[in-house]
Amino acid sequence: MNILITGGAGFIGSHLCEHFLNQGHFVLALDNLCTGRLKNIEEFKSNPQFKFENVDVSKPLPAAISGLKKWDWIFHFASPASPPKYFSIPIETMTVNAEGTRHLLELARTTNAKFFYSSTSEVYGDPLVHPQPESYWGNVNSIGVRSIYDEAKRYAEAMIYSYHREFKVDVRVIRIFNTYGPKMDPEDGRVVTNLMFQALRNQPMTIYGDGKQTRSFQYVSDLVDGIDRLMKADYVLPVNLGNPDEFTILEFAEKVKQLVPTQSTLVFQPLPQDDPKQRKPIISLAKSLLQWEPKVKLADGLAKTLLYFKSSENN
Ligand code: UDP
Repeated sequence: MNILITGGAGFIGSHLCEHFLNQGHFVLALDNLCTGRLKNIEEFKSNPQFKFENVDVSKPLPAAISGLKKWDWIFHFASPASPPKYFSIPIETMTVNAEGTRHLLELARTTNAKFFYSSTSEVYGDPLVHPQPESYWGNVNSIGVRSIYDEAKRYAEAMIYSYHREFKVDVRVIRIFNTYGPKMDPEDGRVVTNLMFQALRNQPMTIYGDGKQTRSFQYVSDLVDGIDRLMKADYVLPVNLGNPDEFTILEFAEKVKQLVPTQSTLVFQPLPQDDPKQRKPIISLAKSLLQWEPKVKLADGLAKTLLYFKSSENN
């Protein structure tokens, strides 16, 4: 197949490139490198089935991309995803999910490609329903700092289903819960990278708020497996992909300390505005539809991630 992946140099996008290259498909990765890293795709450069273009998909797509291939699948994964990153480039974050999504939907419509979108558990906001099923409409502050990301993703979902209803574009939408693994940007400012690097460097480990807020952490290979299964399924509505094992941030910090020998102690810092208090997916839809559930336990996934972080410390 001919597969287009936006955000192909990002954390999840680069894992998708690897997955599809291993299956023998042609992959064109687009990325403007605002948060993606060439390092993530370095290993594919010699593969004749792989091509990279530095393109900002929030601008109209270059004719070369529209005319290059008959696309089978278009994966739209380009977007900053960590709160500190999207706080720093709010307009870019909004436009890549708004105009970017529109441009790629147009490409899907005109080339008869299938369209796959990386939505997020952020569409549930600071949820009043716990855990979160796909049917929950969310609790989002439309003018809060996080609206940069969560409203942009919600707008993208609305645009996708408009294209589906109006033009019959075949779409897949996943709502991704916190995901971690090798190729995460050490500087992304998220809890996984911050705490692991702070522990490795014997620096204070930063806990925002009282650390009692919860998250559930999914290892990246489980996510890629879910994506692959959804592509093959005949289902157009959003599907949660996440690991339902839920931890407080304090428990997560303990897990990191068990794994990384460290002298670090915890320091408490203010909780960012609108930080969700809890987050845990209901994955019964993915289980029944895709026969999918996460396989990688947090301790095992963190151990693999640590190996990558240690090697990036030395390079
Ligand atoms: N967090 C923390 N210390 C850090 C970074 C994040 O306590 O150094 C908290 C953050 O406030 C949030 C949770 O960890 O409650 C997950 O944050 P992250 O930025 O990883 O992603 P989010 O799930 O909020 O998008």
